[in-house]
Parts: sequence; structure tokens; C-alpha cells
Amino acid sequence: MNAVFVSPSAIILTFVLASKADSKYYFSTFGLLKKNQINHMPGFELFGAEERKEVNDVLETGILMRYGFDGPRKGIWKALELEKAITEVFGCNYAHLTSSGTAALTTAMSALGIGAGDEVIMPCFTFVASFEAVLSVGAVPILVDIDDTLTLDPAAVKAAITPRTKCVMPVHMCGSMADLDALKAICSEHQLILLEDACQSIGGSYKGKSLGTIGDAGTFSFDFVKTITCAEGGVVMTNNKDIFVKSDGYTDHGHDHLGVDRGADLHPFIGYNFRISELHAAVGLAQIRKLDNFLAIQRRNNKALRTYLEAIPEVSFRKVPDESGDSCSFLSWFLPTEELTKALVAELKEQGILAGHFYWFVNNWHYISKWDHLKNAVTLNPASAIQKEHLLALQQTQFPASDAIMGRCISTAISLLWTDEQIKDKGEKLAAAIRKVIGKS
Ligand SMILES: *Cc1c(COP(=O)(O)O)cnc(C)c1O
Repeated sequence: MNAVFVSPSAIILTFVLASKADSKYYFSTFGLLKKNQINHMPGFELFGAEERKEVNDVLETGILMRYGFDGPRKGIWKALELEKAITEVFGCNYAHLTSSGTAALTTAMSALGIGAGDEVIMPCFTFVASFEAVLSVGAVPILVDIDDTLTLDPAAVKAAITPRTKCVMPVHMCGSMADLDALKAICSEHQLILLEDACQSIGGSYKGKSLGTIGDAGTFSFDFVKTITCAEGGVVMTNNKDIFVKSDGYTDHGHDHLGVDRGADLHPFIGYNFRISELHAAVGLAQIRKLDNFLAIQRRNNKALRTYLEAIPEVSFRKVPDESGDSCSFLSWFLPTEELTKALVAELKEQGILAGHFYWFVNNWHYISKWDHLKNAVTLNPASAIQKEHLLALQQTQFPASDAIMGRCISTAISLLWTDEQIKDKGEKLAAAIRKVIGKS
């Protein structure tokens, strides 16, 4: 195979090819990317001189670390600058960068005091990182149904609460949000922590507040396929100083960062190393300045594509609790039945136009149906008895309500690079394919 442009998808594809069979729809959604083809949220599509300039500032001094070296770094503090920009752009009191979005979730949970045996209620449609982080702190992921928002169903959350529940973790999937008012009400009633996994919804908002800043803490990922990228990186956002100070220390071996000399810092608690580098933060700094532009393009392209689907009465759309807050990185839509949806996926594949349309229902990364490693509790080192018990119980757990939604759902990734011509072409071909499979049924 020849890849014109090697992207993370190529790596993902290699991984998928090396893993299990029975994923034909998933294979076809990826394929090695040709130039200008994308999947996922596309900050990397508009990478340019601005990013190079910021990275070069760091390369000029050679101080690639975010802490210390005050003299030689000549006033260049990219991580600090990006953290400040994040608090301003998203409207939160505190932001602490991490080496990844997964690390941000682990850090947030540690800072929030979530640990051994605590139950964290989370959706069965997300990215694997969400449960990885829960397991990493010794807690137990309690997977529950989603609704037609494609995020946590508040009724399912309520039904899953036990005396061991500590936290509710909505995941704002595919650019849009969970019903945060309902989830907040449940959390206050039962005195639970609300932690937002907003890794996929940078730039989205709910009733005027940025996603990720509404719960006790929230996280973004800046990995290579997110709305804005650092190559690798993440952030913990919070309005609570205590959570911020703990996150700051946790990501750097428990350093209190109070001394002038880092080597003389005290360690009030045991930490880890989830530091971001200055090079990564520099990329993010250039990207965050472009966010408004990314969002404007996303919203325009999303709306333009949507008109082609709106013309088909059988197509319905994801429920968005606050329409004005949709980041529009994806357009998620439904056909009337799973059978029709599978037929459409096959049709799009046949026509060679499936790239960029995600049928998550049979996708190894995002939906419970394919998480065999989780359901079989396959860990490299022994999991705790309580974790193991809950994971193995997933083999017997059915998610019929979620299956009924995900089996009919396709998410179309919105590219920043589409021309009006391309949108028209995509819209017309997609609509024609939908009409064809509906006509056959
Ligand atoms: C990308 C993502 C993460 C993890 O981010 P990384 O930076 O890749 O570790 C977590 N949760 C969700 C929902 C994501 O999409």
C-alpha cells in the first residue's frame, strides 16, 4: 500500500489490522489517508508558519522543559502561556497541562480523590481512554447507557448509583454535549463529583459555558486528531484552587513548585510524571489562537452538509441539549433501522466514499460491543479483585437502549479543508446513496 500522507490513522489502521477480524466496517472507515482526506477533529489540517514560529522560539533557547532554567530560557514559557490562554479562552479559573488527555483524566481523578474501589459512572460509548483512566487510579468504571444525545442518559446514571459511587463522568462525544443540567442535579442530590471528559468537544459550550469548565473538573485532549493539537497533550481545567494545586503537583512527582530552586521543592504527596514539554505546548499555543477560525469553518461546513441530509425525511439527527454550543466537529445522524444503516455503510464502501463516515457501532475504539479486552479484564498486571469482578460482569451486561441508538448512527467528520464544491459533491453522493438503500428496503 502507498500512503501519500502518513497520519495517525495509518498507525491506527496498522494496529487494527494487527488485532481482531470481524471489523470490516471499521477497516473501511479508515484506509490509509490520501492527502486532504481526514477522519476525526482536524486541528492538524491547518498547521503552518504560526506553529513553526512558536516551536522555533523554544528551539532557539534549547530549554525544552516547562520548569526551571530561568536564565537560559530567556523569558520563554510556552506551557505557562498556553495555560493562561486556556483559562481566558474557555473561561475557567485554572488550567494545568499534561502529557495527554488520558493523563489529564488520571490527574483529575487523583486530584479529586477518586481511588481504590470507587465507582465512576461513565457511558458505554466513548473512547477507551475514559475507562483506562478510571482503572489507572484503582477505581471501577460503571458503564451505563447513552441516549440520543450520544452521551450519558441521566436516567441510566440515576439507576446505577450505589453507596460506592463517587463520580459521574459524562463524555461529550463527537463535538457535542451531555445534558449537564440533569447530570448536575443528580450529582448534587447524591453528593457526587462531576468530571467532564471534554476531550472531543474543544470549543463546545452549554448554556454559555465552555464544555470542560462546568463540572468539578474537566479535561481536553490535544492529541493529533483533536480540534486543536499539541501533537500530544491534555489539560485539566477547574475553578477549584485545591484541585488545581493537586493537579499541578501530581503531574510532576508531587513537587509543590513553591521554591525558587526546583531541586529543593517539598513533596506533600506522591505524584507521577505527566508533564508536557515546551515543544508540545508551543504547538498548542499557535493552535489555540486559531480556534475561533477552526470553529467558524466547522460550523459552516457542518451546516452546509446537513442540508443535504435534512432533505431526506428518513434521516434524523443527534439531539443536542444546547444547539448553539455544538462545536460541529462531527455531524451525527440516524437512519430508521440498524439494517438500513448497515446497508448504507456497505453501499458507501462499495462506492469508495465511506472515508470520514464513522459507524461506531462496530468500531473497536469507541463502543462497548467491541471492547473484549475490557470485558475479559485483560490487564498486564493483576487488577484488584473488585475491578476484575465488575469488568467480568460486563460479559453478562446488555445495552439494548444504546445498541438501538448506535446501530442506527453515523457520524460524519467535518473537515476544515473542504471547498464548497467538495461539500456539494459529498452531500449529493451521500444523499443519493441513502435514497438508494431506502428505496431497496
Ligand atoms: C482523545 C480522547 C481522550 C484521550 O486523549 P489522548 O490525548 O489521546 O490521551 C479521552 N477521552 C476521549 C473521549 C477522547 O476522544
